[in-house]
Amino acid sequence: MSTQAPRIVSDLACGFCGLGCDDLEVAVMFREVRPRRACPEAARLLRRGPGQPAAPRVGGREVPLVEAASAAAAHLKASRAAAFSGLGADVAGLRGLADLAVSFGASLDHAASEGLFRNLDTLQRVGWVACTLAELRNRCDVLVVVGADPTGLYSRFFERAVPAPRTDGTGPLFLPQGRTIVFLGHGPEAATRNLLAGQDVREVPVPDGLLAEALAALGAFVAGRSLADLGGAFAGALGEALQEVAGLLKAARYGVLTWNAATLQSGEAGLVVGRAADIVATLNATTRAAVFPLGGRDNGLGAHQVMLWRFGYPLRTLVGGGEARHAPGLYATAAALKDADLLLHTSAFRPDPPPAFDRGPVIALAHPETEFAREPEVFIPVGTPGVDHGGQVFRMDGVVCLPLEGLRDAGLASVAQAAAAILQAGRAA
Ligand code: SF4
Repeated sequence: MSTQAPRIVSDLACGFCGLGCDDLEVAVMFREVRPRRACPEAARLLRRGPGQPAAPRVGGREVPLVEAASAAAAHLKASRAAAFSGLGADVAGLRGLADLAVSFGASLDHAASEGLFRNLDTLQRVGWVACTLAELRNRCDVLVVVGADPTGLYSRFFERAVPAPRTDGTGPLFLPQGRTIVFLGHGPEAATRNLLAGQDVREVPVPDGLLAEALAALGAFVAGRSLADLGGAFAGALGEALQEVAGLLKAARYGVLTWNAATLQSGEAGLVVGRAADIVATLNATTRAAVFPLGGRDNGLGAHQVMLWRFGYPLRTLVGGGEARHAPGLYATAAALKDADLLLHTSAFRPDPPPAFDRGPVIALAHPETEFAREPEVFIPVGTPGVDHGGQVFRMDGVVCLPLEGLRDAGLASVAQAAAAILQAGRAA
């Protein structure tokens, strides 16, 4: 038995949910990784046992990487309508997947792009004023959380974004008086309530399905209209509460509206996002305000950026034959799979299996612990950025590209290496 002490690695950046925490700590012993400081989600996704990870497989048979890459290349060459899903990879891996799409032809979409597109709809039409995480933390004196408490998906959001003033210099920089946090929609969860204890927290419950209407009323109040002007539509406690929130935002030095578009009800998500952006635009005539949309799990924002700089279009774009065609209705994964004859699924951050697909072969560049509903034709287990190799991921506000550190060598290819091997096999064939 080894008596060697584990290596403690501190101040690690985290690439899982998009919030970009950079204070994680793990203990590493050979292939084993044990989280010491991390949120529950990061701890679950960082933890590794001492065992040897899965090997590449073709048709369920273990093979060397080069053989799996050749088989994947052969399937891609035979394909006429490939769909690339998941796209959970670091920037280098995403560039490799883009190379594969250029070479073989494919549509590309990220597993967590639904919220992104709900936001893009407003951003493309009318634009918005957005802030960074640092501005939110250091300057925002009134934060309105629209919809559900985001803690379930971004467990350290409130800890990082709206810490209480402190005297030891670790709190927000420009907020000696603290701030007000309004939950507009669902109230805060118990953990959030505890975390924000001592801060000015207000709750404006909004019944499901009425959030877009509530934001329309809030926008009207911010624009200077009164309850009487609204013709009684918002008479009562909700109207009065919204009028009070409007007053808070108008009096704020830096108001921010935040939401997670992925968890808004699909029928009203576009309206909610558009009205939140409108409110911020109105506020900026007299004070300072911004939106802070949440999202970007598994480097979703990195996938968006790579698509933009590589093809000039966002995700949900078909690439091939020297052209790129953006059609979100056609190339969202669920729609693309209705016409696809091959699925290439990438998920390096977590063991998420490919979507159901039976129209052709499945190639999975996936976490080694992925459990498949049906064995893919080709499975190449890939390392996780920030565990098995270094890499870069974008934070949810898009202004910071975080460096992730490799912690161990378990012999797993990165997505970039797997994609390069497939590309090389395709060229050699
Ligand atoms: S909140 Fe997100 S970025 Fe922060 S440690 Fe957890 S998973 Fe990582």
